[in-house]
Amino acid sequence: MTDRLYYTDPHGREFDAVVARVERRDGRTVVMLDRTSFYPTSGGQPFDVGTLGGVRVIDVVDDEEGEVLHVVEDSVGADLGRPDAQPLQVGQRVHGVIAWPRRFDHMQQHTGQHVLSAAFDRLFGARTVSFHLGADVSTIDLARELKAADITAAEAEANRIVWEDRPVTIRFADAKEAESLKLRKPSAREGTLRLIEVDAFDLSACGGTHVARTGAIGIIAIASWERFKGGQRLEFLCGGRALARFRSQRDTLSAAMGLLSVSATDVPAAIERLLADAKGQKRAGTALQMELARYRAAEFAASAESTAGGRLVARAIDADAGGLKSLASAIAATPASPGYIVVLVSTSTPALVVVARSADVNVQANQVLAALTSRFGGRGGGKPDLAQGGGLSGSPQEILDAARAALLASLGPAL
Ligand SMILES: [Zn+2]
Repeated sequence: MTDRLYYTDPHGREFDAVVARVERRDGRTVVMLDRTSFYPTSGGQPFDVGTLGGVRVIDVVDDEEGEVLHVVEDSVGADLGRPDAQPLQVGQRVHGVIAWPRRFDHMQQHTGQHVLSAAFDRLFGARTVSFHLGADVSTIDLARELKAADITAAEAEANRIVWEDRPVTIRFADAKEAESLKLRKPSAREGTLRLIEVDAFDLSACGGTHVARTGAIGIIAIASWERFKGGQRLEFLCGGRALARFRSQRDTLSAAMGLLSVSATDVPAAIERLLADAKGQKRAGTALQMELARYRAAEFAASAESTAGGRLVARAIDADAGGLKSLASAIAATPASPGYIVVLVSTSTPALVVVARSADVNVQANQVLAALTSRFGGRGGGKPDLAQGGGLSGSPQEILDAARAALLASLGPAL
């Protein structure tokens, strides 16, 4: 079994050890030592990184037999911690170095979690059922849901403990002894238990690494909460992470304040005003478009050319599918004087086409469209009174000329 130096000395950043085994497991090189300060992923806390004899440690795993497995980078060369690093050999003495900023961050979050969980437990009897320390986000899951005011109260209590700078100590007890102690959460582990005590506030069985005094947590901030599995999941940030989040939110808020030319507290009201304005303008825009479509429809209808089949409006215009369709329908439905056949082509390429006709005209709009798509490609369909298509490759003039020809053909030999 590996001697875990971090159990009693969580602040040890460097250590010397002897390589006990080097193995390949699942395509990775794994090194076992007689002793280590590297923390393996366990109890919600992620692994440490660092170097062993100059070789980079990229993962640390706790195996079932109680060994700490150091997964090391395979290639040895200039990109490693030390350019002169050599592959590790059994029996070799190595110097280990823990990447401290990452480890210290984990210590801040983990001790912060103990304090926060204890505050929820002591104030509201709300148990922590699970803890996850992620790369960016840490969460605790509470057994039941609390109100916002209670969450704020527990957060305040936790920070009181942080600012009182209470000692955080490590001790060991056997399972029997632990039964008589008031642990926040009973431990299912057998044999010797490692206990973490926040002076006169919390006693928990835990194998993780912790700061020596609560003051080193810095601050505990709850970032958000949501309903989760009948209880509540809370996201929290301690120490350096709380500062990093403050900075990023400060930058975001400053940008919003600059854009809106308002103070921080007025940002939500300013956005509300903008949204209301935008809604009003959209409504006005839609009304204007409809108004414009009516005028255009009247103008186009007035310039219709007389053909054997009816009054033909054949035009290329700059509009999207919706614009073409509503304009064509408006012309075809001109109430005072029906008898219209409308072919509108977009000026965009590939072209969009809409064919429409008034109720009293004997032309099949879908047949005209089919004639156009069979010649110019693209696809589309519709009914005898209205058909639309897209993806036609031809100039607007070519398409309109073909439409005229198709209309004449559809009128048949009666002409
Ligand atoms: Zn813990």
